[in-house]
Order: sequence, then C-alpha cells, then structure tokens
Amino acid sequence: MPTSLLTTRPAAPHAAGKQRIAAAVEAARAELLDLSHRIHANPEPAFEEHQAAAWCAETLRAHGFEVELPAGRLATAIRATRRGGRGGEAPRIGILAEYDALPGLGHGCGHNTMASSGVGAAIALAAIADELPGVIVFLGTPAEERGSGKQFMIDDGLFDGLDAALLYHPCDRSHVDIAPLASIDVEVVFTGLQSHAASDPWKGRNALDAMILLFTSVGLWRQQLRPSARVHGIIQEGGTAANIIPDRTKAWFMVRSDDDADYQAMQVRFRQLCDAAALATDTRAEVTFSGGSRTMRTNRILAERWMANAAAYGIEDMGGDASYGSTDMANVSWVCPAIHPDLAIAPFPTPGHSIRFRDAAVTPMADETVLMAATIVAQTAFDLFADPTLVEAAWAEFRASEPSGG
Ligand SMILES: [Zn+2]
Ligand SMILES: [Zn+2]
Repeated sequence: MPTSLLTTRPAAPHAAGKQRIAAAVEAARAELLDLSHRIHANPEPAFEEHQAAAWCAETLRAHGFEVELPAGRLATAIRATRRGGRGGEAPRIGILAEYDALPGLGHGCGHNTMASSGVGAAIALAAIADELPGVIVFLGTPAEERGSGKQFMIDDGLFDGLDAALLYHPCDRSHVDIAPLASIDVEVVFTGLQSHAASDPWKGRNALDAMILLFTSVGLWRQQLRPSARVHGIIQEGGTAANIIPDRTKAWFMVRSDDDADYQAMQVRFRQLCDAAALATDTRAEVTFSGGSRTMRTNRILAERWMANAAAYGIEDMGGDASYGSTDMANVSWVCPAIHPDLAIAPFPTPGHSIRFRDAAVTPMADETVLMAATIVAQTAFDLFADPTLVEAAWAEFRASEPSGG
C-alpha cells in the first residue's frame, strides 16, 4: 500500500487544501480505526444497523455536523450536513457510507471500512469547512447487501439537490470502474397441504416438491441464459419433519443481468418457472420481487479526479473486475453523477463475501485503506467544492449519457 498521508504531496490542483484534508484524516486516525473495529465486532444485517448508525452519527455530531437519524423511512439511514464557511447552497457534495453486514458471516464485505472512511472523509472536509462553499452531505445508507436501501432514500428525497455522490468500497484490487449487474431479490413461498407422509400421503399436496422442481427448472434454465446473467437462491424453509408432507416452503432467490431488457425478461420467466412448479404439484406459489438495483453509470469526470488523487499516493488503477456483483450505488448513478471506486484491503486474490475477506477487514492493511479512502474521497469532493466548472462538467456528462426517452 501507498505512502504516508502526511509526507506525500497530493495531486494538483488544490494540493495545499488536499494536504490539509490528509492531515485532518491522519489526526482522526485513532477515532476512525476505533469506529471501523467496533462496527466489525458488532455486525448488523440489512435494515438492522442500529449500533453502526448510532456510532457514525455520534462521531459526525462531535465534528459539527447536523445529524438526522433516522433520515426518511429507514430507521438506520443517516443524513448529516455541514455548511461551508463561504456560504451558498451549491455545491452539495454527497459522501456515502454503507454499514450492513452479511447474515451468518459478519462483515464479509468489509462495510465497516466504508462506514469509518465515509465518516472520515466527512470530518476531514469539516476540518476545512471554512474554506468551502455549499454543503457537505454525509449519507449513511443501510441495506446494501439486501433490499437496496439507497433506493428508499432516493424515493424519500434524501438525494434531492445532490451534485455528486462519492464513496469507496473495499476489494482485493484497486480500481474505479465497476460493472455491477442489475439485481432483484425474489421471495418464493409454496403453499400445499399437510398429511401423514406414510399413512395417507395422497391426501397431502407437497410444497417441498414444488421447491425442488423450481430449483431443477432454474438449473436447466441456466444453460439458456446469457453468460452475464445470474440466478441463485437458498431454501429458507423446507418442511418441518420427514413424516409430514410439507405444506409450506420458502426460498430467497436473486435474479441478475448486465442487460436491462434481459433483466426484465428474466423476471417474467422466473415467475413462470414458479407457476409451473406450483401447477405440477397442485400447490400455490406466492412470488414477491423487492429491492431492485440497477446497472451503473460511472461518471468519467469524477472517475478521472478520483484516479488522479489516488495516483498521487501511488495507487495504480488496476482496471475493472472481470465480473461483479450488484450494488444499490448503481441506483444513485441514475440520480446524480456518481462513482463507486474500490480500494484493496486484502492481497489479491481474496474473494469477497468470505471469512477471509471478513478477517481482512480489520487488518493493518485494511486500517491504512480506511484512512486512504477517507482522504481520496474527501480530496475528490474538494476538487468539486473548489471548481464549479467541474460540477457543471460532471452534470453535462450525466445528461449527455442519459438514455433517450428517459
Ligand atoms: Zn459491499
Ligand atoms: Zn457485499
């Protein structure tokens, strides 16, 4: 990993201001790493990040932010604002932070490092707020791993008026470009009828048979799917006893594609597979789609600033990953100029969503990345605060790349 935050000269322009940002992050080192470690030690799944949100809010308040928690309908969403000393409403630069963990795994996606680096970027900007126009807007965004919390926050108006949205995500490589798949969660419940599995099984209707048929259908369907499409699921309820014909089974699937039209068609087809399994077993299927995330529009203007600021610390952009999961940050990228840069917290290759990645998220390498990410996010924000034409250019690109017909 790169060189010291205190001795390295940041990227032009505005290197002096960016140096003060790096120093502010370094000054908050103990506070930020303590926050990262505490969140890591207390993993909370999507929509239940009460402790993590409270800790982030507490730190932001201590650094002069006006904090709303909850913000909007989600109990664990945060909006914290701090006005620049030069006045005015523009620009409003969003610093985002995720803090949800994975059920049964903990912080296997390393979101503890995102939370603390997002807070770090915000408080570093607050340290030089006197020289800034506009508003620093920190958004604590729940439920990235399931449920697309950012979409709720968009619908609640929490992204209204934002000129740019910045964050960092941990990875085993460093790069600014990502190509997340559009993704949606599907809950499938089959309802049948119980009966004794030995004395009178013919009186029952087997909801587990329906579930097995659905998994078989999905398995066969895969051969006909595009290489970039994904469909995968787990059985959450599979019956209660071997001598009872199961009257209820439940599964959680995800349907994903990098192509919007394909993504829509896959959802229709998936629903048909559920109905077909119900028909074949004389059971009833309830299919509920929720928490959709979209494909990402990486803003090149912001990406170039990020890469320049990162390069000053010796971070070479390694190019996008060959394959990627999904993220609700992509939804934000359809609302305002946005980037989703990744920085390494672990040596390559360390798979995400794994025990190894979870354990990596509190190593000295991850800790240094927390501080580095906070610095580069804040410096990229500083570029935007300092130069209104950069904000205009980011928006010009955003509008020009909008698909025709909206
Ligand atoms: Zn993640
Ligand atoms: Zn993840």
